[in-house]
Amino acid sequence: MKGSEWLRYRLSELSRLEGYTKPEKLQKSQPQPQSILRMDTNENLALPLEFVRDVLHEVLEDVDPRLYPEEYDELRSGVASYLGLSKDNIVIGSGSDQLIDLALVAFGYGRRSITLKPTFTFYRDRCLLHGIDIEELALDDHDFSFSVDSMLKSNADILYICSPNNPTGNQFSRDIMLDVIDGFDGLIMVDEAYAEFAGYSLKDLAVNRDNLIIFRTFSKAFGLAGARVGYAIACKEMIDVFNRVIQYPYAVSSISLKAAISLLKRFEKVKRVIEDLKAEREWLYGQLSMMLGLRAFRSDANFILFDVDEHEDVYRRLRDEEGILVRRIGQVGCYRGCLRVTVGSRDMDERFLYGLSRAICNK
Ligand code: PMP
Repeated sequence: MKGSEWLRYRLSELSRLEGYTKPEKLQKSQPQPQSILRMDTNENLALPLEFVRDVLHEVLEDVDPRLYPEEYDELRSGVASYLGLSKDNIVIGSGSDQLIDLALVAFGYGRRSITLKPTFTFYRDRCLLHGIDIEELALDDHDFSFSVDSMLKSNADILYICSPNNPTGNQFSRDIMLDVIDGFDGLIMVDEAYAEFAGYSLKDLAVNRDNLIIFRTFSKAFGLAGARVGYAIACKEMIDVFNRVIQYPYAVSSISLKAAISLLKRFEKVKRVIEDLKAEREWLYGQLSMMLGLRAFRSDANFILFDVDEHEDVYRRLRDEEGILVRRIGQVGCYRGCLRVTVGSRDMDERFLYGLSRAICNK
């Protein structure tokens, strides 16, 4: 191509990609009930705002924003002791999405990838952006499991599995994951963004394998989505390359690094809220399961997927008449109209259930 033709070509190629669909913003013109309840993005809203704000105030007293961040290694050590691993197995990122993306940038060029469908859509978006071929293996139509044989038959070089899976909420069994990890000959990326709410983690496995990276985050259980802090766990060699070569010199602000360090020190409080949320999830699942015209799915994360008749109408009524935002997912397997709701405090969940029953009755 001549001159800057290549640039115009590439730009039009990129403009055809969809990119990640961010959560909906309420329009100013929409009638806004006094308080909008955001139950669409799986943050931890059960963690009291005053508690997290106190942490931030303390951090602000202690930070000199004129300087480049110096707390990177301290957070690596904090995460390592939280997980019972060594700091040499930890890399910190600006959210786990940045680390997933960096792994694709570093290892994905000219490679093929396989993942499940549906799963966290960001992964597919980034593969498309980086020109990585992506194969999507459909989850079982009814129970959201997958066939290890079909996955291993693929000749992909990179495998991405989100476990617990977003948006279905199920964690694949440890045995299934071990079969995949033992059988796959390539880079294995396991996204454990919701691990704190789940039954187990594969963190210990990543340390001794040279082809396994596990991604985790402070955005969900720790209530720090706005601070953008995530991390990955892998063998020493992989982490060394990540820290020296792949990661930006200063990817995370000192305020965010310090906030994460401080929250780890107060983990007892965070842990109590996680335990409460797990109990709340079971309660909410029970309540949803009793509603007519709706089918809820068990979850190992802090959200619940449910299938409801005329889901578009229900979604809109929830938003416009009840002031409650949930995530619109659509068809998943044989379930035609799925929505996903984040588990909150009992007050939030009761308001959601009441709003949902009204939205269903008024259809
Ligand atoms: N993985 C999954 C499965 C997620 O649902 C999300 C957030 N929606 C992320 C990763 C990204 O989280 P972070 O805020 O750490 O970038």
